[in-house]
Amino acid sequence: MYTKKSPLLLAVLFVFALGCTAQQKQASLNTEQLIEDLRVISSDEMEGRRAGTEGNRKAREYLLQRFEDEGAKPFQGSYEHEFTFTNRSGEEQTGVNVIGQVQGKSDSVIVITAHYDHLGVRDSLIYNGADDDASGTAALLAYIDYFHQVQPNHTLVFAAFDAEEMGLQGARAFVEDSVFMEKVVMNINLDMISQSDKNELYASGTYHHPELKTVLESIETGEVKLLFGHDRPDQGYDDWTNASDHAAFHSKGKRFIYFGVEDHEHYHQHTDEFETIPQEFYKNSVRTILNAILAFDEL
Ligand SMILES: [Zn+2]
Repeated sequence: MYTKKSPLLLAVLFVFALGCTAQQKQASLNTEQLIEDLRVISSDEMEGRRAGTEGNRKAREYLLQRFEDEGAKPFQGSYEHEFTFTNRSGEEQTGVNVIGQVQGKSDSVIVITAHYDHLGVRDSLIYNGADDDASGTAALLAYIDYFHQVQPNHTLVFAAFDAEEMGLQGARAFVEDSVFMEKVVMNINLDMISQSDKNELYASGTYHHPELKTVLESIETGEVKLLFGHDRPDQGYDDWTNASDHAAFHSKGKRFIYFGVEDHEHYHQHTDEFETIPQEFYKNSVRTILNAILAFDEL
């Protein structure tokens, strides 16, 4: 049946359509801010962000401010989660994770993680860790901004972990909260997502969780070649299952996908700095991972 629409109804529809457009626009990824965050977090001022150092503390101060600015709520009452661990010299050391959340329509949780610590200063050279892992940390901030504007289905917890380079210490401390962990349905870990001259990004972990591969195969990846693998136990060193913070979640039986690139010439070198990051690949990589988060949020 065809009915002629009244001018009033047309006006209402028009305003509604405008509203939709505005909302979609609002939910775009702020890649300019992403690059600025990458620049600041990997700057010399942060002195390589080694856990327990002044540079690490400066990076944390920056993140605390940015978590708040982008609208993340403190996690369990605070953005700062302190933990202690025994370092490789056998000393007790303190680390501090930065954690915030965006409330979803349900209380079940997806934890999105990256580590903000890196190697510090060695032989007077600053190891800036731009790819490892300022890239993942800056992406967290962009996603907080995005999901603060468009409410997700799951509650998203954003964790910038400390002391990853000392043995995944921040992540290991985090997953010990067994009451909270009951609500966690999966971990999405970002560690080294910005450096590839072949536009290649890995989504590792589908060997353990094949059902997640189907989801990832359906997402828009643009210029990025999204690859699978680096997750079979028979791959030895090339098995990344225990290579970064997702291992802590895996050890608790939680599903994970780890996004990262192949080791490259700047890996754990002082040349892993802002100037050597291919910005277009980085932005595309962050967009691709956003599409993955959106798809996982629909599960
Ligand atoms: Zn790393």
